[in-house]
Amino acid sequence: MSDALRRVLDAVAPRGDGLKKSGSGWSARCPAHEDRQASLSIGEGQDGRVLLKCHAGCDHKAILAALRLEERELFEADATRPAAATKPAGRAYATAGEARQSYERTLGEPTASWEYELNGELVGLVLRWDRPDGKKDIRPHQPPR
Ligand SMILES: [Zn+2]
Repeated sequence: MSDALRRVLDAVAPRGDGLKKSGSGWSARCPAHEDRQASLSIGEGQDGRVLLKCHAGCDHKAILAALRLEERELFEADATRPAAATKPAGRAYATAGEARQSYERTLGEPTASWEYELNGELVGLVLRWDRPDGKKDIRPHQPPR
């Protein structure tokens, strides 16, 4: 069973009453409408993508919304990993000074900044800009290890 299929079944199980194996896939009560039969079928496509179909005709998006799943979660094996683990936040700058210069070029002089040193070496930098609309922009920087 793929990660994606497991994720979908985990999402269906508490809502879609009557989850059961059906042929090569699974069936359950559809979470997107008042379902008295097991109208939702769940299968696995050739490419590993999870296929969801409500035989009462519910919209694919409505089923996903009812399951609190996103489209990409139907096929990405690693969608449950936190985004931070797969995508580094922002660009990687070689040094904190370089990061600061680059941010100042686009965002202007920061309202506040915090520098973290370890053994006399600058190891981290957090810059904050208070925007006129009351929101804050925060840019943390850590030199690549
Ligand atoms: Zn339905």
